[in-house]
Amino acid sequence: MALDALEVRADEVSELLKQQVLDFKREVDIYETGTIIEVGDGIARVHGLSNVMSGELVEMPNDVVGMVLNLEEDNVGCILFGDDTKVKEGDSVRRTQRIAECAVGDGLLGRVVDPLGRPMDGKGPIDNTETRPIERKAPGVIQRQPVSEPMYTGLKVIDSMFAIGRGQRELIIGDRQTGKTAVTIDAIINQKGQDVVCIYVAIGQKGSTIAKTVKTLEDAGAMEYTVVVASPSSAPAPMQYMAPYAGAAMGEFYRDNGRHALAVYDDLSKHAVAYRELSLNLRRPPGREAYPGDVFYVHSRLLERAAKMSDEEGGGSLTALPVIETQFGDVSTYIPTNVISITDGQIFLESSLFYSGVRPAVNVGLSVSRVGGSAQIGAMKHRHVAGRLKISLARYRELEAFARFGTSGLDQSTQRELHLGERLVELLKQDQYAPLPVEKQIVSIYAGVNGYLDDVEVDDTQRFEKELFEFLDIKNQDIGAEIIEKKNLTADLEERLKTAIEAFKETS
Ligand code: ATP
Ligand code: MG
Repeated sequence: MALDALEVRADEVSELLKQQVLDFKREVDIYETGTIIEVGDGIARVHGLSNVMSGELVEMPNDVVGMVLNLEEDNVGCILFGDDTKVKEGDSVRRTQRIAECAVGDGLLGRVVDPLGRPMDGKGPIDNTETRPIERKAPGVIQRQPVSEPMYTGLKVIDSMFAIGRGQRELIIGDRQTGKTAVTIDAIINQKGQDVVCIYVAIGQKGSTIAKTVKTLEDAGAMEYTVVVASPSSAPAPMQYMAPYAGAAMGEFYRDNGRHALAVYDDLSKHAVAYRELSLNLRRPPGREAYPGDVFYVHSRLLERAAKMSDEEGGGSLTALPVIETQFGDVSTYIPTNVISITDGQIFLESSLFYSGVRPAVNVGLSVSRVGGSAQIGAMKHRHVAGRLKISLARYRELEAFARFGTSGLDQSTQRELHLGERLVELLKQDQYAPLPVEKQIVSIYAGVNGYLDDVEVDDTQRFEKELFEFLDIKNQDIGAEIIEKKNLTADLEERLKTAIEAFKETS
């Protein structure tokens, strides 16, 4: 009996030894280098890297770095970061056993960098950074908590009716030239002094457009707390593809350290096109609209990284504002429907509104924010503020169609609703680069929905608002301060606001 057991053990030992010898063979270096069999369009096919992992970096001659994306039976497909003319067929390729990383940290603030965190602004080397993998798994549900703090854009129409919370993913969607970028830039400018680090990722835009955006942020004093990740239209498709993941990694650095970050991905339509290009070059089978089948996953794993972390995880957040460009306002095509389904709501910008002078051109009927309401302060949610605004605007939209045929035949209450609606639409217009603090938004909307604009001409609405703010800044500063402090519009506060607005109206 005892002898039997011993025999089995000896057997096991020899089996183990045999296995180790086999494993040892597998690690011999010959498996760690391969040869390029084909190169072009920012893609290389490499033979002989049998152990390489998907996502692993490989080194080629002339400092060209590649990343493995396709694992096939007898070769692997890599995307190349850098000039694909510097490598040729027959060159050797080495494994690095590392996955793609980028620089993250405070050293990046105020800088324009490429998707690997390397400077592109000619302002010298970047220090005070560390490196992190560009691709990371999104936090699980246990590590998160629902959004609870507001992320104000400073735009009345959004903060009142489509409030965004820290950690939320809100899509900005619309045709070309409808003010999509403008909304995100205003949101960034409005983070000044809020301890929110901003990351603006420009994907596939013209270099000159990116330069203009950087200048705008600089002029507004917003670069101090902002990083711009630039992969312009002239950058190879693989670089454009990596850019938003790098931006997310830079934001996660803050999210995971109990701080707050806002990432703008401008835009994911061009990102999808870059991914389609490199996938077709990798000869992956094209699917709907020639996009590869996993383009949904490409965007979902990016946006899932936005999160409000639980208190145990430090309570930090990463908010995401992805941008999507539509054609002729059609949101039912492949990429828009995908991204709509991954986000917590969308701000829909419409050309016809934009051209008729309603800017920001938010279509109030088609926009939604599914979770941000719980981050909104009570004073804004108040039934005499945003509550009434929503109802009045909805009524106005219904009646507007009739009003086109003339208002004379309509009854008095309908006419009153139209009269109010016109003024509210005017009140929600807002110039670029002029974000408003939430207490001012509340005052303005309160005056609008409670009839104080009724005797003001539509064209004078904006002037009324400006003068009201000036009046309150001199005479009743305490009201704004108290709204912020109490977060609620108490009966007493509402009474004082009413008295102040009435006093203002008497002076004008
Ligand atoms: P693209 O599709 O080219 O990226 P976009 O949708 O991002 O365009 P923007 O570049 O933000 O649009 O804006 C288009 C133009 O409209 C710009 O010239 C911008 O200055 C102007 N604009 C945007 N928002 C406003 C606003 N609230 N008030 C006045 N002008 C605005
Ligand atoms: Mg734009």
